Amino acid sequence: MLRLLMRTWLQRFRGDVAYLERMFLGRTRPEAEGAVREALALCGSERWCEGCGGSLEEDTSGPSAVGHGATRLCGRCRLQPMFHGFIRLGRYAPPLDRLVQRVKGNAWHDVAEAFGRALACAISRKLSRPPGGWIVVPIPSPPLRRLRRGIDHTGSMARAVGRELGIRCTSCLRARSSVRQASLGRSERLQRSGLVWRGRSRIPEASSVLLLDDVRTTGGTLLKARELLERHGAREVIPAVICVRD
Ligand SMILES: [Zn+2]
Repeated sequence: MLRLLMRTWLQRFRGDVAYLERMFLGRTRPEAEGAVREALALCGSERWCEGCGGSLEEDTSGPSAVGHGATRLCGRCRLQPMFHGFIRLGRYAPPLDRLVQRVKGNAWHDVAEAFGRALACAISRKLSRPPGGWIVVPIPSPPLRRLRRGIDHTGSMARAVGRELGIRCTSCLRARSSVRQASLGRSERLQRSGLVWRGRSRIPEASSVLLLDDVRTTGGTLLKARELLERHGAREVIPAVICVRD
């Protein structure tokens, strides 16, 4: 009951903020579902490697990719796959990249949730339900950055996925570092992804985890998260991201 009241209040508050933005700043928000659908129509049609999420050539029998039954892998993942399954909605290119940036920059909760619903669709199309079911875990942003932005966008996405698929959402990871990832080089990113396990968080033993993030750049943060999740009992970890920077 309290949750329902809170949600109603939050929706009304967001509606008021949108109205004030329109009135005083002349800023209009896109209709969430439409904006996501439009961006994905332009950036989401390609095939991707199910080991690392990278885009593949149209012809998967070409030199850069090979099909193992239903699984498509790039040349690198054929030798050693980064993950055993990868869900993505598209590649990091306009207009999808700009929409993701605006979700964070303008605290567009409703668009973040629409991305979550689109991910839930992709997940249910691609993955079969494991015996114990899934749990969904978001990759967090550092607390100060979340506060400054006014949005926990991966949290919103993860909760939307949880609602759509009827699975539990657990925030068991915490972002420690305040270093901005975009300002770092590849090797630095891999070393300094500041993820730690959150206090006394628990996940069920032998869980299958859907790991939610907005953009995969090097994959360093996802790998670090998998390491932490496996150390705390996860049986398998499958990333699900909005887009991948090739
Ligand atoms: Zn790959």
